Amino acid sequence: MNFCSQCGEKVRFAVPQGDDRPRHLCDACGTVHYQNPRIVAGTLPVSGSKVLLCRRAIAPRKGYWTLPAGYMENAETTQQAAARETLEEACAEVSLANLYTLIDLPHINQVYMIFRAELLGDFGAGAESEEVALFEEHEIPWEALAFPTIEQTLRHFYQDRPSGHFPLHTGTVTPEDRERYFGSA
Ligand SMILES: [Zn+2]
Repeated sequence: MNFCSQCGEKVRFAVPQGDDRPRHLCDACGTVHYQNPRIVAGTLPVSGSKVLLCRRAIAPRKGYWTLPAGYMENAETTQQAAARETLEEACAEVSLANLYTLIDLPHINQVYMIFRAELLGDFGAGAESEEVALFEEHEIPWEALAFPTIEQTLRHFYQDRPSGHFPLHTGTVTPEDRERYFGSA
């Protein structure tokens, strides 16, 4: 951030009085521009024994497989965000079940919230997907998944499925986890 979104003057990056970390500060109008983590909401859509995955048509990780998920918008609930992203990326209507994985990514200021969901009907590739398909467990492209959050969610799912019990799992993606997907640059 270079300029204040309130008044248009230049901002500086410094620790405000009484605070403990640097923020973008506007000396002209006194605004402190706080930046906070973003929520990525999505679903794990299931149809019978199969799981729906989307092959990404956009960067980052174009061509790799993901669960439908994306940034939450203002004025919607996390469930609405998860269902909307599933409709946009997989053209799929779903019935949401419980929140299944809650994964912190503190090094990139994101929180993933993935809900279990039942696929209700047809699906297809949305604008951000090259391809959308259903996978049996042995067909999951583990080496071609887009993000560590997706791998963690799928691994929990296949560990839980024999018991039929799907409790909430919390986790963290470390920089090392991310490096395996994105390289170290
Ligand atoms: Zn200002």
